[in-house]
Amino acid sequence: MTIGFIGLGIMGKPMAANLMKAGYRLVVHDVARDRLREALANGAELGTSPADVAARSELMITMLPNSPHVREVALGAHGIVEGARRGAILIDMSSIAPATSREVAAVLAAKGVEMLDAPVSGGEPKAVDGTLAIMVGGKPEVFDQVKDLLLKMGSSAVLCGGIGSGNVTKLANQIIVALNIAAMSEALVLATKVGVKPETVFNAIKGGLAGSTVLNAKAPMVLDGNFRPGFRIELHIKDLQNAIDTAREAGVPIPLTSQVMEMMQALKQDGKAGQDHSGLVQFYEKLAGVQARR
Ligand code: NAD
Repeated sequence: MTIGFIGLGIMGKPMAANLMKAGYRLVVHDVARDRLREALANGAELGTSPADVAARSELMITMLPNSPHVREVALGAHGIVEGARRGAILIDMSSIAPATSREVAAVLAAKGVEMLDAPVSGGEPKAVDGTLAIMVGGKPEVFDQVKDLLLKMGSSAVLCGGIGSGNVTKLANQIIVALNIAAMSEALVLATKVGVKPETVFNAIKGGLAGSTVLNAKAPMVLDGNFRPGFRIELHIKDLQNAIDTAREAGVPIPLTSQVMEMMQALKQDGKAGQDHSGLVQFYEKLAGVQARR
């Protein structure tokens, strides 16, 4: 089977590489041509536009930054919709607004093209290892057709409901991660200010109820003052904005998410948008006048 892969950035490049390792033929496309160098060297073919990619594949995968990029690649000029064959499938693995997934799927459906939204969790290391957690929305029969293929890129692929449900689940994930980082930051800065070493606090509590995957991954980065991404603050701002927009539309207040969004916006104004999201601790450190380091 030939797969069209559009968007070979930090995540897309290793995901495409894993599909090629599994024996699939790939037609690849990215607006930044240099992102394609490795895939082309490994035998992928160049697609000149999303329409060209779609015309040459049975199944397409997109891994793009956000909703406007997915809308443009799928529905814009020379978009997937212009080239796709009836019966083809688009799997959009970008983290975008659920409403955009539904909108794009509806236009494609009118052309006989199926769509799944299938955002991922795990970041670049898991994209490289092929162990991403994949959250899927769409029809069960379409999911069944592509589940084995998804498991070449991830260690789990869970169907969460109809189209858009993958991105709803991803938003839930991003809310929980952001609020965990904020709670950790608030606690470690307070402890530091009142005289207990943050490393001692981390070691004492990590095995108890406050322990978490987020704490284990992010507290050491805070203690080392190492905010190399990882997952950039600007990407988390994008995800929280999608969560806030979705909540507004649904009439559900999400006050804690909105507060953490403001902290991230403050860090962006401070020139820290490119840092790892564990850099959120610096918001508290600036206010308290201490640093929660080893
Ligand atoms: P990235 O910016 O590195 O990659 C996106 C790629 O899309 C780039 O190569 C860019 O040139 C390409 N692109 C943009 N517009 C395009 C267009 N119109 N046509 C063709 N190509 C286009 O981003 P990433 O880190 O790979 O993230 C991709 C998605 O995965 C995002 O939605 C992100 O939130 C999500 N995600 C990222 C991580 C992570 O740790 N980086 C983890 C989980 C989920």
